Order: sequence, then structure tokens, then C-alpha cells
Amino acid sequence: MTRAISLHDVSKSYTRGTRVVDRLSLDIEPGEFLVLLGPSGCGKSTVLRMIAGLEEIDEGELLLDGEYANDLMPADRRIAMVFQNFALYPNMTSRDNIGFPLRIEAPGEDPRPRVDTTARMLGIEDLLDRFPAQLSGGERQRVAMGRAIARHPTAFLMDEPLSNLDAKLRGHLRAEISALTRELGVTTVYVTHDQAEAMSLGDRVAVLRGGVLQQVGAPRTVYALPANVFVAAFIGIPRINLLRGLVRAPLDGAMTISLGKQYLRLPEPLCLDHQLLRVQQGREVIVGLRSEAVRIAEPAAARPGEVHITGLVEHVEFQGHEVLVHFNTGSRPAVVPDLEAPRPVPPVRRRRRDPGTVLDRLRTRAGTLRAGPVVTLEHPADPDPDPAPPDGRLPGDLIVRTTPDIDLRHGMQVPLLVDIAHLYVFDQHGERICPAPDRLPDLEE
Ligand code: ADP
Repeated sequence: MTRAISLHDVSKSYTRGTRVVDRLSLDIEPGEFLVLLGPSGCGKSTVLRMIAGLEEIDEGELLLDGEYANDLMPADRRIAMVFQNFALYPNMTSRDNIGFPLRIEAPGEDPRPRVDTTARMLGIEDLLDRFPAQLSGGERQRVAMGRAIARHPTAFLMDEPLSNLDAKLRGHLRAEISALTRELGVTTVYVTHDQAEAMSLGDRVAVLRGGVLQQVGAPRTVYALPANVFVAAFIGIPRINLLRGLVRAPLDGAMTISLGKQYLRLPEPLCLDHQLLRVQQGREVIVGLRSEAVRIAEPAAARPGEVHITGLVEHVEFQGHEVLVHFNTGSRPAVVPDLEAPRPVPPVRRRRRDPGTVLDRLRTRAGTLRAGPVVTLEHPADPDPDPAPPDGRLPGDLIVRTTPDIDLRHGMQVPLLVDIAHLYVFDQHGERICPAPDRLPDLEE
């Protein structure tokens, strides 16, 4: 099948030597809703603008409906873009705003029938004679959507279209966008830094970090089988617990992962995934535990595959329907440094009298060309043995979700059961070891 949009090894630099999009390859099927997800500054909008023809592609190929499109003028791409700031003409009514691109495309034709059909579809018939200043944020966004739809484009490109709206309206419009694009069957590329939005909208989610594609897959797959620790940490609320661990695999004893003051004993017989961990013997790894993998219960209540640890309550976060409990388990959190705002490394300027060795220069150049490992435990970004909690997290190295009826207070020592079937292990560079990378998604777990 011909792909609606294909990017082959596409790169883009704004300043020489710093790629903000680095060899991106992505195939988007006709009618698919693909979300580009990543922290601010990771190159999402740049990708969208290259597809729209608003930004030149430095290297690589863009195909639209199977045709080479790098040099196609934006107007010839039959693509409609919806922006964060709505971009409506303030001196035009909604009717004229929606009809404007139609008048440009087909000057002799009366745009009214198409404007009326679009307005009916969006339920904005009664807003057609108002100017943007007389509309609420949500209404303006509907008009902006109308302008995009009325053109009958072959693809929608949406750049954080909901981020200027309040949470309630965002949820509402999110559902509308999803229903509308599916009804129209138009290929959509949607940019957001909000993982919840990405997970609820996308047929597939493509996660970017520092201009480099980390993983692309269905929302359930990127959640259940994140390619690396960056994807694991970026997707899911509350954020996955990431602890520094040490694999101990004695030939004559049980295999454990030490978490500082406590350890996880891997149940025997070892499953295939855990047998693969043997090669990590004596090495530091990152243990990932989503909040649903840990529950508060006595050791006697352990089900098969659950192992016991304890935690000291550091903070109780009341959320209404549930409570997030922050425990101190005596382990050290693993910090994923550029979770919020990875920036491409600018080239290091050397003074002329100190050109460095050839190897130095090659290293510097390589550093600017690839995003590098997600996290490096050999050379921790923060050498402080007791670092501040990452990403503004409250104290405690392990967050557990529980029901509001459990009475927990600061300073209590609490028994915990960890479900080893939901254990993630990442290597020193942040790549996933467990579940094994070639394991097929078992999404019913
Ligand atoms: P995102 O959409 O993920 O927030 P962008 O694609 O807007 O990221 O930007 C990626 C990087 O490129 C950022 O570091 C940004 O500062 C830089 N950038 C974006 N546009 C320009 C530009 N016109 N000139 C120079 N740098 C730019």
C-alpha cells in the first residue's frame, strides 16, 4: 500500500553541525492518526513544518502519497495545518475565515456550500457571523478546525492545537478531534508534549528525543514495552519508578537485584527474561517499576511472582479517588537527565591555538550528530551520591498507588509486594533488557 506520508532519513539543522532532527524515518498509513510526542524542543514542530513544506529538508526524502515531495510548494501539498494559537484572521468573520483558503484555491467558486457543510459538521452554524474576538478559545479552535476541514485536505497536521485551552475543554475537544478525523478518514499527524493526549488520540505514537526517533508503536505497546528508559519515563502517570540496581547472579544461589538497602529476589525457576539478566552479573542496571507493579500488603498475602520489600512513608499525595504514597526504600533513583528539555549539543568551539587531537574533534562531531545514550550509569550526570529528586518529584524513591481508605502517615514503615512479572530492567545506557526486546507484546498481562 502506498504510504500517505513517508520520511526517509530526514535531517534538519538550523545552525551548522547541530541537527534538531536527526535521520528520522517514519511511514504513515493513509487514514492513520499518528502522534509525534516528546519534550519541548525535541524537534516535533520542525518535523511537521518539513512535511507541510514550511521548512526545507536538509537531507533525506519526503514522500507524499508515494511521490517525492521535498521541493513541492506548500500550496501544492493539499495539507491543512492547525496551530496552537488558532491563527485566525481577526478582521474576518468565522464564515470568511473558513472560506478564505477555498477562495484562494478556486477563485471562481462560491465557497458558501462547503463552509455551511463544514459548520454543520462542527456544530458552529450559529458562530459563522462572529469575529474571532467574539469567540471563546474552544470556539476559535473549532473555527480553525473548520478552515482546515473545508479544504478537503489529504492530510491534517496539528501542532499542539489544544495547549492554549483549559483542561476540561481540552478533554472535550480531544474527543471531538478524534471522532472527526476518523469520520473523515484523513491522515493526521498530531504534535504534542502531553503523553496523556498522545496515548488517548494516536493509532500510533512516535516518541522523539533530541531530534532522534526513540520508538514508534501503538499506545499500549510503547507503554508495555518501552524501547528504552526515556520512553518508559516519558509515558505513564505517575511516572515509572526508576531505581538504580545491581545484578547479583551467583552460580549456587538465588539471583537478586540489589536496590541499595534491600533487594528483589527473582522467583525460581527463572523465566527466560531473567535468565538473560545473568550476563549483567555485577553490573549496575536501572530497575523500572510502574506504580501498578507494587502494592501495599503483608508478605503472607504474596501471590506467586510477588516479592516482599518494605518502604518508609515520606509523603502521601491525596488525589481524591486514589492516593499516591511516596516511599523511601533505601534505593537511589536513576535520573533521566533530559526528560523535560533535551537540547541538541551545540558544537564545541575550540580556540585556534588548541585544535585538540583528531580523536577529540571526531568525538565532538559525533556528539553533535547523535543524541547519545539515554542515561549513563558509568558516568552519572549527577555525581552527588544523594541527588535531589528528579524532575521536581517529591521525596521518596518509590511511588505506589493505593485507595484512599488506607490510613498512612509520614514515618510509617510499610510492607510492600512487588510483582516481578511487571519488572523492567534497563542496561547502563538505558536500553531495555527485561522484558527481552524481542518478546512479543503480551498485552493482556
Ligand atoms: P518542539 O516542537 O519539539 O518543541 P522545535 O521543532 O520547535 O521543537 O525545535 C527544535 C529545536 O530547534 C529547538 O532547539 C529550537 O530552539 C530550534 N529551532 C526551532 N526553530 C528554529 C529556527 N527557526 N531557527 C533556529 N532554531 C530553531
